[in-house]
Amino acid sequence: MTTHAPQAGRTVTLPVSLDEAVAALTAMPAAVPVAGGTDLMSAVNSGLLRPAALVGLNRIREIRGWQYQDGHALLGAGLTHARMGRPDFAALIPGLAAAARAAGPPQVRNAGTLGGNIVSAAPTGDALPVLAALEANVVIAGPDGGRRETPVGHLLAGMDMLQPGEIVGFIRVPLLHAPQVFLKATGRTGPGRAIASVALVLDPARRGVRCAVGAVAPMPLRPLEAEHWVAGLIDWDGARGLAPEVCTAFGDYVAAACIPDPLPAEDGTEPPPLSPAVVHVRRTVAALARRALGRALA
Ligand SMILES: Cc1cc2nc3c(=O)[nH]c(=O)nc-3n(C[C@H](O)[C@H](O)[C@H](O)COP(=O)(O)OP(=O)(O)OC[C@H]3O[C@@H](n4cnc5c(N)ncnc54)[C@H](O)[C@@H]3O)c2cc1C
Repeated sequence: MTTHAPQAGRTVTLPVSLDEAVAALTAMPAAVPVAGGTDLMSAVNSGLLRPAALVGLNRIREIRGWQYQDGHALLGAGLTHARMGRPDFAALIPGLAAAARAAGPPQVRNAGTLGGNIVSAAPTGDALPVLAALEANVVIAGPDGGRRETPVGHLLAGMDMLQPGEIVGFIRVPLLHAPQVFLKATGRTGPGRAIASVALVLDPARRGVRCAVGAVAPMPLRPLEAEHWVAGLIDWDGARGLAPEVCTAFGDYVAAACIPDPLPAEDGTEPPPLSPAVVHVRRTVAALARRALGRALA
C-alpha cells in the first residue's frame, strides 16, 4: 500500500488488496473510496464534495476480473464498463454487457466501474435494472477480513447500507444461459443518460421472465405481476414465441405498473391527468418492454 499527501491535510492511499483498503478506510473514517472517479470527481469539481482523504481502489487486482462459483459469476466491483462490454463478457452476461456499452461516452466507460455505478445509485445507472432483473447480490468487505452478502436491491433501497469502513468487493450474478436484453431511451442522439431503460432476462430453469425498469423512479422497479402473467403464456418446452399482441400487452402492463394512473382523491373527485411528459415516458417504457420481450423470445 502506498500513501501520498499531495497537499497538506489531503491523503491519497493506494491499497493493493480489499483488506488493505478496508483497513485504510477504518484508520481514516473521513476518507472516501474512489474507483474510476467519474461520479466522485464530478462531485468534487462542482464543489458538492470535499473529501479529507481518498482511498483509491484501482490497484486492487482481485476486484478487476471475475471468477465462477456454484453456477454464478463473481464479478469484481472494479470491472470497468469497457471491460464488461467486450464479447467474452457479453457471452457470459449479455444484459450487463449491453448496459455497459450504453453507459456514457468512451472516456466514462474506460474509467467507470460496476461498483461505482452501484454505490452512486443514480436512478439513471444503466447497470442497475440489469442487476435487479438478475436478482444479483453484492459481497461487501468489512473490517477484520469480514465478508457479508446482500441483494443489490436492498442496497439501492437503503434497507441495507454500507457501514463505515465497508467496500463493495464483488457482485454475485446467476449464470442463466438464456437471452437477456437491455434497452435504453435517451433524450438525445449519441451517448446520454436514460430517460427510461428496461432490462429483461429469461430464466428457463425457473420458467421465469424477470424485468426491471430504470430511470423512472429512484431505484429500478420490478413489475412482478406482468412478469408472472407473461411467463405463464410462454411455451417453455417449445418454440417460446409469443404473438405480437401479447408483447404489446406486456409492454402496456409493465408501463402501467411502473407509472400508474393517479388515484381519485378520498372525496371521489377526479385526479388531474398525467402530464404530457409523464405520458411520454410511460409510452417509452411500454415500447422498450414490448421490444425487449420480442427480442428475448426471437
Ligand atoms: C459524462 C458522464 C456520463 C455518464 N453517463 C452515464 C451513463 O450513461 N450511464 C450510467 O450508468 N452512468 C453514467 N455516468 C456515471 C458514472 O460513469 C457511472 O456511475 C460509473 O459506473 C461510476 O463508477 P466510478 O468507478 O467512476 O465511481 P467513482 O466516481 O469512483 O465512485 C462513485 C461513488 O461510489 C463509491 N465507490 C466506488 N467504488 C466503490 C466500492 N467498490 N465500494 C464502495 N464504494 C465505492 C465512491 O466512494 C463514490 O461515492 C456518467 C458519468 C459522466 C461523468
